[in-house]
Amino acid sequence: MEVGILPVESDPTLLADIRRYGKFDTDGCYQCGSCTLSCELVEDGASFPRKSIRHALLGLRAPLLGSLEPWICHDCGDCSIVCPRHAEPRISMYTLRRFLSAKYDWTGMASKLLTSRAWYLGSLAFAAALVVLLILCYHMWYVGLPFSGLATPLGMEHMFPIMTYFTLVVMLFPLLLLLSRVFRIWRLTMGGEQRPSIPFYIYVVEAWTYLYHPVTHSMMRKCPEKGRWLGHWLLASGVVMMLVIKVFALRWFQTDNIYPLYNPQRWLGYLAAAFIFYGIGDILVGRGQAKKEIYKETRLEDLVFPILLLLTALSGLAVNIFRYAGLELCAHFTYALHVIIATPMLLVEMPFGKWGHMIYRPLALYFQAVKERAARQAPAAEVVPHAV
Ligand code: SF4
Ligand code: SF4
Repeated sequence: MEVGILPVESDPTLLADIRRYGKFDTDGCYQCGSCTLSCELVEDGASFPRKSIRHALLGLRAPLLGSLEPWICHDCGDCSIVCPRHAEPRISMYTLRRFLSAKYDWTGMASKLLTSRAWYLGSLAFAAALVVLLILCYHMWYVGLPFSGLATPLGMEHMFPIMTYFTLVVMLFPLLLLLSRVFRIWRLTMGGEQRPSIPFYIYVVEAWTYLYHPVTHSMMRKCPEKGRWLGHWLLASGVVMMLVIKVFALRWFQTDNIYPLYNPQRWLGYLAAAFIFYGIGDILVGRGQAKKEIYKETRLEDLVFPILLLLTALSGLAVNIFRYAGLELCAHFTYALHVIIATPMLLVEMPFGKWGHMIYRPLALYFQAVKERAARQAPAAEVVPHAV
């Protein structure tokens, strides 16, 4: 394969476009490279965060959109601590992840939600209002209760059939939306005429890394702050366990005779809830204290998401307690509240907000592993990274 200097176009609007998604301080940066030297995750020729900042400064939109590095960054903040110009490269990487999330999304909604508080809060409120309306319509027209009779203690069994379909839709729809972006991400980061094509078998050989990283959080373990690894691992594991239980085992909850407390199936749910409580507690306490570099700057979304998750878990737990206590009306109303809180979180946060990194980061680490193996196996001349 013939290799030469590849033409690159400079886009003068790139920096302004990135800054729509958050802080991106390039004025102070004099490219000293201290940030890259301090980063425990930089290896095999990667050069972040400095390289990504340079791409943005030079207006190199295509290389930036094709970069996996903002996702390989795990947001530990060491680079910001050592930066002699206080340019906060950690925050620049965070902003770049928001920018990339918007560019991956073919619906255009992520861009609106990530750049406008009105759109973000409005979407959450709209989804919640829609659920309230659905609950009212269901009870008044399908169950046949008059408006004045909505407080009748009914038990919850009448809601189970419709909740099965509802739960599947609100959980699987955002997940499918996220997965629908995978090909676009592949094209941006691995495809294109300017990159050498990588044999398919390398994708197969490295496929295990897509699961390995989310299961172990091995990259986060390299960060000097070890406590964060535990909190994040527990939170991610708790959320995944809860999603799996809701999608595949909703019947555990939907039995007329609620399973006894000692049933192991119940304890799996409680274990997932405990993991979530620990992880969210760790985040909220950290943000409240604002001592660690990673928590020094808090955006609205950084609080809304964990709070919604916490309220979802708490209301779910309360439903269980009320059912065991035989408090039917309390259980019924709390269940409605649980659905009103959980649905906007799933429909807005999962496909357009912070949850996107659940798919994007493992994908980036997988693609990076593919690139590295291809580079090791190919003759040196065939490997053409976006060298800038
Ligand atoms: S340490 Fe600061 S000044 Fe040096 S390259 Fe990184 S961001 Fe720029
Ligand atoms: S935030 Fe941490 S992982 Fe990310 S670039 Fe800086 S030092 Fe590296």
